[in-house]
Amino acid sequence: MAKAEPGAEFALIGAHFAGLGAAREDVLLGVGDDCALLRVPPGQSLAVSLDTLVAGVHFFPDCDPHALGHKTLAVSLSDLAAMGAEPAWATLALTLPASDPAWLAAFAAGLGELARAHGVRLVGGDTTRGPLTITLQLQGLVPPEAALRRDGACAGDRIWVSGTLGDAALALAELQAGRDPDAALRARLERPTPRVALGRGLRGIASAAIDLSDGLAADLGHVLAASGVGAELRLDALPLGEAVAARADWSLALAGGDDYELCFCAPPGRDGEILALGQRLGCRLTPVGTIRGDDDALRCLLPDGTVLNPTRRGYDHFAGA
Ligand code: ADP
Ligand code: MG
Repeated sequence: MAKAEPGAEFALIGAHFAGLGAAREDVLLGVGDDCALLRVPPGQSLAVSLDTLVAGVHFFPDCDPHALGHKTLAVSLSDLAAMGAEPAWATLALTLPASDPAWLAAFAAGLGELARAHGVRLVGGDTTRGPLTITLQLQGLVPPEAALRRDGACAGDRIWVSGTLGDAALALAELQAGRDPDAALRARLERPTPRVALGRGLRGIASAAIDLSDGLAADLGHVLAASGVGAELRLDALPLGEAVAARADWSLALAGGDDYELCFCAPPGRDGEILALGQRLGCRLTPVGTIRGDDDALRCLLPDGTVLNPTRRGYDHFAGA
């Protein structure tokens, strides 16, 4: 039941997904058997992350399939970036309402291009029929002692963010209002740039890191809870793109999801290395606040010195359920 007819299913996998992504010598067996066989080098741990995108919840059902393929992998690459891991292997569970070859070809191309750019091989998956749902599991490698975890932030650490905040939320708001965001803004929502090289470069420098998928307030909140610390954010320091800055709405940057930038903490003595890393990677890195040890609150200082209490704490799928 609910499986595509077997011949068609294997043809679909063979046509679009077998051999997708970068060639890797550590793939002993890829798509086509009951399991993939992968070689994990000694001294490395597997970093594993899984994300599901549901049509109508995470993306517009009619969205560009090439962009959707890109985003499917980008959100998981962002998780690995936030751990300082090197991406390696992916598996893909696809639930499709129908087998549409043009849609599948574009989706696979978007996924495959980003996979090759990051040295990732698609090594397996599952294909079923049903409401459009895409689950990708990404595996990467990091020496366990070098992983950037959420629980390492210390009082006095500076808080940094990469790139600019709130662009994806603004693009989404524009689309939901029936307007057409300009191409650059739309790309921030539909084709996020995972900060993989940045995460890798922050090994040994950052005390804690997280990627921004639910908004800075919610995601930094996870770091604070895991580390048992509080923080002060200076809102006038938040890096905003032009369109977001023009809105004068802090909630875009604080509670807007889907930016896939990194937020990380490091002692002030590492400022020079961090700025040099940002310069080498061509990635804007901005200090936005400080970790505090006196309580576990997140305090957001407005430009006039008063405190804003962020109300929306990110998207919760089960809020009110
Ligand atoms: P099984 O029934 O043994 O789980 P499947 O029929 O589900 O095998 O899949 C056959 C092969 O195709 C497996 O190697 C599986 O990993 C791979 N595969 C299935 N769907 C996908 C997909 N969407 N992307 C990549 N590989 C897939
Ligand atoms: Mg299967």
